[in-house]
Amino acid sequence: MAFALARKLPLFVLGGGSNLLVSDSGWPGLVLRVSLAGVEFEGDLQKMLFHAGAGENWDSLVALAVSKNCGGIECLSGIPGTVGGTPVQNVGAYGQEVSETITRVRALEIATGQVVDLSNSDCGFSYRSSIFNTTRRDQYIVLEVSYRLHRNGGPRIEYADVKKFFAAANIEKPTLQQVRDAVRSIRQSKAMLLVAGDEDCRSAGSFFKNPIVTAAEADRIQALAEKRAPGKNMPRYPAADGQVKLAAAWLVEQSGFSKGYSLGPVGISRKHTLAIVNRGGATAKDILTLKDAIQKKVFDIWGVGLQPEPVMVGF
Ligand SMILES: Cc1cc2nc3c(=O)[nH]c(=O)nc-3n(C[C@H](O)[C@H](O)[C@H](O)COP(=O)(O)OP(=O)(O)OC[C@H]3O[C@@H](n4cnc5c(N)ncnc54)[C@H](O)[C@@H]3O)c2cc1C
Repeated sequence: MAFALARKLPLFVLGGGSNLLVSDSGWPGLVLRVSLAGVEFEGDLQKMLFHAGAGENWDSLVALAVSKNCGGIECLSGIPGTVGGTPVQNVGAYGQEVSETITRVRALEIATGQVVDLSNSDCGFSYRSSIFNTTRRDQYIVLEVSYRLHRNGGPRIEYADVKKFFAAANIEKPTLQQVRDAVRSIRQSKAMLLVAGDEDCRSAGSFFKNPIVTAAEADRIQALAEKRAPGKNMPRYPAADGQVKLAAAWLVEQSGFSKGYSLGPVGISRKHTLAIVNRGGATAKDILTLKDAIQKKVFDIWGVGLQPEPVMVGF
């Protein structure tokens, strides 16, 4: 950090690089890859605190928690990247978000060089958002994250895909390990797990966030959907403060972009509508061309502005 400051070089803090679109001209400064390792535990009969170094692999931490029969992050199995990346966009999947278990983020404040402890509420978590990617973006280097997990607690099964999985397997009360395995298997079927040889997982995960809109706006879009595609139910889910979460994947599909769509060397995953895939040799510009085309079409048809989820680096 001192090296970059002294030379007035822009600093980019890299975790696992799984949520990035890097410009074709690269990053005009210093890239600092956070590799801080180590996991420590403390707890009682009910709760267990996991203090994990920011450079630890996230899925290995989930595996460790599950092996210790600690619940709270099992549905977040299989998400690529590091521990330090998880608070940045409040990583979430299959009915869980890290904001439900994070008690403390220890970070280096770049402007002052001080190590600070941020509480859960200091982090300002909401859907795919925290102070780290909004109001205090690029101001901290996350060093360590503490997660408060439930000891011997039952797993969280709220998400339809996970419920369906266990109904089909005839398992009424799955263990944490069974939930972890189920989530990884569902993710693999959508190419949302990094598996060698699967070309559809060459992505940054979901490229667009699910839009959160007012109930009135959701009604407007639903009425339009009924007019345009009668009989096709528009998915909508309750969000905070009476708002409604729409499914970005549904909007993308209903705008003419289906799984397997191709535009030169980029395309949409054959297994997941929200993943933009590099089919080989694509530049960042190629990715942006498809992203722009999707955003424009969705806006023209539905009046909804889709927000990208990956972090744009060096643009
Ligand atoms: C196949 C696939 C599936 C995915 N599925 C999901 C999913 O289900 N849910 C989900 O939420 N995300 C998902 N993602 C996105 C990604 O895995 C997460 O956002 C992950 O937390 C990113 O962590 P990372 O360490 O790779 O961060 P990076 O991609 O390296 O960085 C992402 C951002 O975090 C910042 N950052 C990283 N580490 C630190 C640190 N120590 N201190 C300060 N800033 C830091 C970077 O500067 C950057 O702004 C998926 C990605 C892929 C490729």
